[in-house]
Amino acid sequence: MISIQNQIIVENWTNQLCFNIWIIMKQNRRTCQDIDLDNCKVLDEVLWKDDKLWVSQSMIIWLIREAHNLLINEHSDMNWTLNLLRWSYCWLKMRTTIKRYIQNCYVCCRSKASKDQINQLLKSLLILEQQWQNISLDFIINLSESDENNAILTVIN
Ligand SMILES: [Zn+2]
Repeated sequence: MISIQNQIIVENWTNQLCFNIWIIMKQNRRTCQDIDLDNCKVLDEVLWKDDKLWVSQSMIIWLIREAHNLLINEHSDMNWTLNLLRWSYCWLKMRTTIKRYIQNCYVCCRSKASKDQINQLLKSLLILEQQWQNISLDFIINLSESDENNAILTVIN
């Protein structure tokens, strides 16, 4: 069975950005428009940055899913997933891609606690003798705008 690290290395060989960086490094040039080459090195034909294995685009989502869904901390938060991956791997905009993945994780979105205010017990209304004897108003404010409106007023007679 092929290890995760070997799978990443194989993918890197077929990735254009990784190949370009690898060529630049082999030619001892120190500038690249795509990434900062400080602390980059090629060892045994494998690209490393800050002593972390470089991960090409095609492996990023797979790697985040593996780290985010680990049994020891299933559906871990952004920082836990980032720290786990940052221990061994590196790619462009790592924090952003991990954050976006977790924000779009269906299981995480479903299991988030509701931030709505907890409702109190309902009270029965009095039975009134005539119309407009008692009215109640309820505002729901700061909604996202729809046709230039962002609030709802409910009037109960
Ligand atoms: Zn999740």
